[in-house]
Formats: sequence, structure tokens, C-alpha cells
Amino acid sequence: MTDLLIHDAIVVTMNQENQILKNGSVRVTDGVISSVRATEPGDRDSAAGRVIDASEKVVMPGLIDAHRHTDFALVQGLFSELGGGELLKEAFALYHTAEPTLGDSFFEAAWRLACLRQLTHGVTTVNAMDFTPGLGAEAIGESGLRAVIGSELADVLDPASADDQLATARRFIETYHDTYEGRVTASIAPGGEAGCSRRLWEGVAELRADYPDLRLHTHLYDSAEADTMAAGSGADDPLDLLDRYGLLDERTLLTHLLHADRSDARRIADAGAHVLHCPTVYSYFRAGERTWFPLPALQEFGANVAIGLDDPFWFDSWDLVREAKHARLLSNFEYGAQQWSSYDLLRMLTIDAARALGLNDRVGSLEPGKRADVVVVDIDTPRHRPYSNLPSVLTNTVTAGDIETVIVDGEVLMEERTVESMDVESVRTAAARERERLQARTGWETSLAGSTPPDESILRRVSARPLLRALRQYGRGIVHQHGW
Ligand SMILES: [Zn+2]
Repeated sequence: MTDLLIHDAIVVTMNQENQILKNGSVRVTDGVISSVRATEPGDRDSAAGRVIDASEKVVMPGLIDAHRHTDFALVQGLFSELGGGELLKEAFALYHTAEPTLGDSFFEAAWRLACLRQLTHGVTTVNAMDFTPGLGAEAIGESGLRAVIGSELADVLDPASADDQLATARRFIETYHDTYEGRVTASIAPGGEAGCSRRLWEGVAELRADYPDLRLHTHLYDSAEADTMAAGSGADDPLDLLDRYGLLDERTLLTHLLHADRSDARRIADAGAHVLHCPTVYSYFRAGERTWFPLPALQEFGANVAIGLDDPFWFDSWDLVREAKHARLLSNFEYGAQQWSSYDLLRMLTIDAARALGLNDRVGSLEPGKRADVVVVDIDTPRHRPYSNLPSVLTNTVTAGDIETVIVDGEVLMEERTVESMDVESVRTAAARERERLQARTGWETSLAGSTPPDESILRRVSARPLLRALRQYGRGIVHQHGW
């Protein structure tokens, strides 16, 4: 018995042959795709539990956001007009005032709003790294979406000790890995060479030995001081740091790499590690000299690259399709035209991201046997027609607003832009309430014209402990990097 049947669609399968069916049907049974083939007349009056007529519309795999933080989704709009140095300073102050005073209700509302945004932007899977992973697992699980979530480990700038953070991460894995019918899985997520002490890296290596199936998800080479910071943990450079702890292999996900060079690209590709690229955040808030990740070398050596939004609430966009467009524009600007084809970008948003997360046996393409994570994109409008290059339309013209139906595990979570799996009004009410609390507690002022940070110096707003730890560990480097 078929539970769901979509017919008369332009099916962009993202299978190995990049096959597109001009007029196709996708059948789903028990959450799994049972067939993908040309539409037959009987499909239109099928006895399936739910039938979706997708005439002239595109049906493709759900999008995968390969790197995101979520905790502070409710600060959206506060940072949009800041410069790079100011952003880091204000974010640091906010993390250390909001986190202890606002409590779980703030972060729960943030996660639920993030789920609503993710869903309405067609992102069926997210790879998240956060300080409130348990709230995240529950919000994702209940919204019907899919996620890999890591408990973010960063003891240098955080008051909690390495051992306490590692214990929290272990508890998270034990409680939430492989829950909600397998839609929620865990990763191990050290913040990167900039935020972790030696003791933390040792503990991460122990976690990995205990949970060898999990992804290791981290930031690397995101500042000019990356080598100095790795030296603080006794390594020659950030890749050497991972290598020393046995953390650099095909289960490793490396975000940013803005200061990595050609030889780093070769080491990453040789190890089979995956690269998570987040173009908007670093171009929006550029501070200091312009640097970009070594894309030509990564391509030459065959590294797998996927795309993520990183901190969508800093630059006010949750549109992963536009993020892929930014990836192309900025890489072409840096290295010359044709860095990626439109098909490359579509693969990065779907099957290549699934491969990075170790989920390519379950999602990332529309093929029999895979879980049914599917989006329907409306391109039957004057904004898109007439067209002749569908992959280009899907990466250059379409925005997330064109995605009208979202299905995960065969369940319809949104149909024709009506959200079915979440109580939208309660998400909005909680977000508005918690945002008012945020402003009252932190002193940020907002109006329709913009936002103003509090006048008070951050040295008065942040307790001395995290600042002193940071200075002891990295001294001048961190002062310079954060502009204090
Ligand atoms: Zn990040």
C-alpha cells in the first residue's frame, strides 16, 4: 500500500547519473521511496493515502544545511549593521549575559523558531553545533525534521570546565543519538583550535574512541591566528592538532578553512575529511585582510565540499539556496568564473552534504530504498518561465520562498506553504515573548530602523572569569582578533 504519491512532476533525482525525469512520479511506502519512474495514467487517481499533483513543478531531495548554530536564533536583527570586530565583541558579551540569565525558555523558543524557519525554507536536515543540544534534539524531533546535533565544546571562552563539558556531551549522545525514528543523531563537536584546551582535545579523542560511528564536527583555520592557537595546544598547526589526537579522517567535518593553503587542502583530501563552506557570514562581516578557502586545490585533490548557513541570525537570512549562490559568486570573484557548475551546487545542497554527514544511505537523493525527504519547488511562474537550464534556474533564480511543500520520512510537514507539523502561532508567541526578555536583560535597544548595543563597556558586562581564561590561553592573539 502506497502512503504517498507525487505525480506529473519534473523529478530532479540527484542520483549518480544526475537523472531528471520530465514527467515523473515518486511513490512512498512506510516513509521509504518505493519507486521513481515516469508518471502513468493510473497515478492521477491512485488509491494512495495522499496524492500530490506536482504538474510543472520540481520535485527534488530536501536541502541539507551542513553547518549551523541555533542557540541565539532570537537575536536576529541585532547584528546586521555591525562591523566584524564589533560583532565578535557584542556576540561574546551577549553569550555571557544572556546564557546565565535567560534560561531554558529562551533557548527552547529559539530552537522552535529555528525549526519553523528551517522547515519553511525547505531544509529537511541540519548539521548543528550548539550549547543547548538537548533542547535542539527535542525541537527537531517534534517538528518532524531531521538533524545531526553536537554539544558544542569550547572551554577556553566558557566558564564550564573541559571535564564538565565532556560529561554533558557524553550524556547528550547517550540520551539523544538515534532517537525520533532515527531522525535525530549526535556528533562530537569541539569548537575548533580557537576555543579548546589540551584537556578538552584529549577528552574529545576519548569520546571518539567510545563512539566511532559519530561525525567529528569542528571549525578550523577561521582566523589568521589559527597556527598560534594550535601551538597553544602543542601542535604545529590545526590539522596537526587533529592528527595528534587521531581526529582527522573520513568521519571528520571541517568548517571554514579561510586561512588554509594548498598543502592543507591536500592533507584534508588525503584524509577523506569533508569541508563545510559558509560563504555569507565571512563576506558580510569581513574584518582584516580578505582570505578565502583554497577551493581550486580542494577540487584538484578531490575533497568533498558542502554548504552551511553558520549563524543565519547574524545576517538575517535562512535561505540555503541563496547561500549556494553566494558560494558561487564569491568563489568566482576570488578565483575566476566556472568554479562550480549549477549541478555541482545542487549536489552540495543534497547528496554531497548527505555524504559528509554519513547519511547518504538514507537521504540526499530520490532513489528507491531511501527515506522520503522531498521538497516541491514551484517554478511554474513568470519569474522562472520560460527556461532552458533547470539546474541554473534552481540555483540562480529560485529562492527558498519558491519551495511550497516539504516532506521528511514520508510525512508531509508543509503543503502548499501551510505548515502542518508545528503550531506556528505558539512558536511566534514564545519567540516574541523571549525576545522582549532578551532586550530587557541585555540593554539592547531596537526599533524598526535598527538596533543599538548597550553603551556599557563589555568589561563591565561580562564576568571576569571567561575573559581571564581567554587571555591566559592565547594572550595577545585573542585580544587582537576580538578587537578589545
Ligand atoms: Zn560555525
